[in-house]
Amino acid sequence: MPIRDDLRPYEPYGAPQLDVPVQLNVNENPYGPSKATADDIAESLRIAATDLNRYPDREAWALRTALASYLGHGLGPDAVWLANGSNEVMQQILQAFGGPGRTAASFTPTYSMYPEYARNTHTRWITGRRADDFTFDVDAALALIAAEQPDVVLLASPNNPTGESLSLESVRAVCDAAPGIVVLDEAYAEFRRPGTPTALSVLEDYPRLIVTRTMSKAFAFAGGRLGYLAADPAIVDALRIVRLPYHVSTVTQTVALAALRHADEMLARVAELRATRDETAQWLREQGFQVVDSDANFVLFGTFADRHAVWQAVLDHGVLIRETGPDGWLRVSVGTPEEMGAFRDALTAVVATARQAQDGGSATERTPNEEEQA
Ligand SMILES: *Cc1c(COP(=O)(O)O)cnc(C)c1O
Repeated sequence: MPIRDDLRPYEPYGAPQLDVPVQLNVNENPYGPSKATADDIAESLRIAATDLNRYPDREAWALRTALASYLGHGLGPDAVWLANGSNEVMQQILQAFGGPGRTAASFTPTYSMYPEYARNTHTRWITGRRADDFTFDVDAALALIAAEQPDVVLLASPNNPTGESLSLESVRAVCDAAPGIVVLDEAYAEFRRPGTPTALSVLEDYPRLIVTRTMSKAFAFAGGRLGYLAADPAIVDALRIVRLPYHVSTVTQTVALAALRHADEMLARVAELRATRDETAQWLREQGFQVVDSDANFVLFGTFADRHAVWQAVLDHGVLIRETGPDGWLRVSVGTPEEMGAFRDALTAVVATARQAQDGGSATERTPNEEEQA
């Protein structure tokens, strides 16, 4: 294949999509829309279907207006942008603000897709480290920013795969220090623990801060593929230069608008999922595992000398979790109480073997450039 030389070593991204009874591997909301919501979505689509000979609204004004009002914080539609998943939003950010001769930075362990956007856009990619307990080491981050002057800094908060949020002080410190764009990836924002701030609250102080969100996680709309951001309207205008024409289809806009009309219901289970997350973390601790405090809908736990063997053994019990993050750790998404029961049973059944294999090692054994996938 005459593929670009720099792409030659790579495999396509993706978690295994396996047909097993209990799927706790890609941080989806386990509860689908109700019949009433599904009916409204279908009816909206039926009406829109008669216009499918026309291109969609290229600027997606109605959907941006709805997303702006969902976000609150006094945002207008001109401060909101969207694409097919926040992955596409972030790729557009690097297309507009990264590129040849430019640098993007993040702090590992974090979301495995960031280096892929950098690679795809010919942006130089550098990483600093989080602290050994995976918390954000603000002094180390500021030192890296001072030394490398990255054009784009990507920060996930809550972070995937570890789960912890950044303090507003850290966000402000990074924004004050960074010479270019700072992206706060808040894909899991709706799951954060009470009292945990969102970077939306400091947006107006920082014209180069971008806060990205998604309908894929808490909003129970992963199949709809809708990600979005809030930022200064000048940033939105820059992204409109690189977006493909009509990039968000009429189908996507229609379905997302209908889902947003039912936002309360779509989000109704978030409190329950948070409680289940905390119970799961507690149970894992009681079993003697190390667990990272999570503001998201997943829990990272470990450590295992051979995590692949544990992942496989749990899968053999019909439960698919995620082999990701620092070596020795596994990640489980928060599902229904029944699914979490199946997870506990499966892990309990393999725990004797797992304990034998457990190295008791610490997270400091991670390799510096290790990346994770969501
Ligand atoms: C899941 C996830 C996303 C969102 O992906 P979509 O493309 O919106 O489905 C973004 N960032 C992180 C850190 C994630 O884990």
